[in-house]
Amino acid sequence: MNAFPSLKLIDGKATAARVLAEVREQVQTLRQGGVQPGLAVVLVGADAASQVYVRNKVLRAEEVGIRSLEHRLPADTTQAQLLTLIDRLNRDSEVNGILVQLPLPQHVDEHCILQAISPLKDVDGFHSENVGGLAQGRDVLTPCTPSGCMRLLRDACGELRGKHAVVVGRSNIVGKPMAALLLQADCTVTMVHSQSRDLPALCRQADIVVAAVGKPKLIGAEWLKPGAVVIDVGINRIEEGGHSRLVGDVDFAAALPQVAAITPVPGGVGPMTIAYLLKNTLLALDLQQQAAHPERTPCLSPC
Ligand code: NAD
Repeated sequence: MNAFPSLKLIDGKATAARVLAEVREQVQTLRQGGVQPGLAVVLVGADAASQVYVRNKVLRAEEVGIRSLEHRLPADTTQAQLLTLIDRLNRDSEVNGILVQLPLPQHVDEHCILQAISPLKDVDGFHSENVGGLAQGRDVLTPCTPSGCMRLLRDACGELRGKHAVVVGRSNIVGKPMAALLLQADCTVTMVHSQSRDLPALCRQADIVVAAVGKPKLIGAEWLKPGAVVIDVGINRIEEGGHSRLVGDVDFAAALPQVAAITPVPGGVGPMTIAYLLKNTLLALDLQQQAAHPERTPCLSPC
C-alpha cells in the first residue's frame, strides 16, 4: 500500500492509459476509413536496454492498432546502409512514423541519420526542422518525453499561463524542448544546468520544477517552494539496503510533504513517453495528409 497521500501523486500510468485509449479510438476511426497508421522502429545493434525499449514500443503500438514495422540491424551496419533504409521508409506510404532507437553505434553519425528522416515522419521530433518549428511556436512533431510532461502538467495544474517554471537540465531530448513547450504555454521559463549558480535558490522561485538531469535525488526539499508542482524525468538506478531500485532526480520522500503534486519514479513520466510516441504517429499521419492535400486544410500556423 502507498504510504503517501495519493492526491499529491501525479499518476503517469493512469494518464498514459487514458492517452493510449484516445489513440486507440482514433486508430479505430481511421481503420474504418481504410487507413491503418504504421510506425517503423529501427534498432541497430544489440544494446540490452534499447532492445527492451524497442520491444515495449512495438507491443504498445500493436495494442492500439498501429501497424509496427521492426527493422533490427546488426551492430556493423554502415551509415550508408542505414541511410538507404531511411530513404526507403521515407518513401513508403504505409509508414507514417520513423523512430531510430538511440544510441547508435559509434561509427554512425547520429545527427546525419536523424536529419535523413522526413520531418513529417519524425515522431521523435529530433529533426532540425521540427526543433526550429518548435522554437518558432509552429505546429510540428515535438519530442515525446517533454510532450508527455506537458500533458501531466496540464492535468495537474490546469491553467499554465503566467506560472514560473524552472527546467533543470538542458539536453536536446528533454530540457530544451521542455522549456520551449512551457514557453509556448505562456509560462515564464528559467533553464538551469550544471554550470548555473545557486541552483536551490533558482528552483525555490518556481511554481513548476521539471527535473531532467540524471543525478539520483539531487533535488531536495530545500530546493522547492511550498506548493510547487514537480515533474521528475530522471531515471536512476541506485543500490540501497542491498537492493537495486529506480529513483528520480528529486528526493521524493523529502519533497512530498511540501509540494502540491509530484510524479513518482517509476510510474510518473516514464509511461507517458511511449504514449506520446503513438500519439505523434497519428499526428504525423495527419501532417502527411495535410501536405498531400494542402487545398483541404488551411495552414494551422500563422504564415
Ligand atoms: P543528459 O545527460 O543528456 O542531460 C543532463 C542535463 O543535466 C545536462 O544538460 C546537464 O547540464 C544537466 N546537469 C548535469 N548535472 C547537473 C547538476 N548537478 N545540476 C544541474 N544540472 C545538471 O540527460 P537527458 O537525456 O536529458 O536525461 C535526463 C534524465 O532523464 C536521465 O535520468 C534519463 O534517464 C531520464 N530520461 C527519462 C525519460 C523518460 O521517459 N522518463 C526520457 C529521457 C530521459
